[in-house]
Amino acid sequence: MKGIIIAIDGHSSCGKSTLARGLANALDYVYIDSGAMYRMVTLYLQRQGIGPEQNELLREALQEIELSFGPGNRAVLNGEDVESEIRSMAVSRQVSHVAALPEVRRFLVVQQRSLAGHQGAVMDGRDIGSVVFPRAQLKIFLTADAGVRARRRYLELRERGMEADFDQVSENLRARDRIDSTRKDSPLIQASDAVRLDNTNMDAEETLAVALALARIRIRKNATEDR
Ligand code: C5P
Repeated sequence: MKGIIIAIDGHSSCGKSTLARGLANALDYVYIDSGAMYRMVTLYLQRQGIGPEQNELLREALQEIELSFGPGNRAVLNGEDVESEIRSMAVSRQVSHVAALPEVRRFLVVQQRSLAGHQGAVMDGRDIGSVVFPRAQLKIFLTADAGVRARRRYLELRERGMEADFDQVSENLRARDRIDSTRKDSPLIQASDAVRLDNTNMDAEETLAVALALARIRIRKNATEDR
């Protein structure tokens, strides 16, 4: 059966990546973590000491960046595995400022579209259903209570063996949501044809079960329409 594009957008740390990965596994689709791409660009700029306002340097730096994903979807920047580093607080603090730059968005959207190719794909982010794939056959807008999200993020960082302070994590989520929702270029919004899923009182498995049921309906519908 022909694959579809599944776009998952929503606030920070409501389980988008976990859901997207689970869907991709269950359906044998490719999974693309667009947030990791913004994080990799941010890390590269930080390493070069380039601030978001340095337009000329930024343009040159983008040409030097090669992003890919290794086995297990690990983030790879210019050949180096940076999966852990891009999840650090240092990157989390800066990433929304970098992601607000139209040049950076243009650079990454082209790559996101080509990574999905013509196969079945699940991509998570902030503007996937609204900008990257406005014609995605299934769009899910995931959200959850802010306190619950901060707790999940905090536990996730601890599980990865990273230093984490709950108040800092919570403040970072709030700040990113605010910047992501109010930026001029491709703000975080719920696409008009997206299904809203609030998983405040659901665990990852329950969230996946609901999304998978929706996906299977859309895949069947897509196959029928294609005939
Ligand atoms: O998904 P994740 O939380 O790792 O994304 C990190 C940041 O990247 C977000 O807070 C947002 O600023 C930016 N982002 C974006 N558009 C996307 C994905 C992520 O602006 N499609």
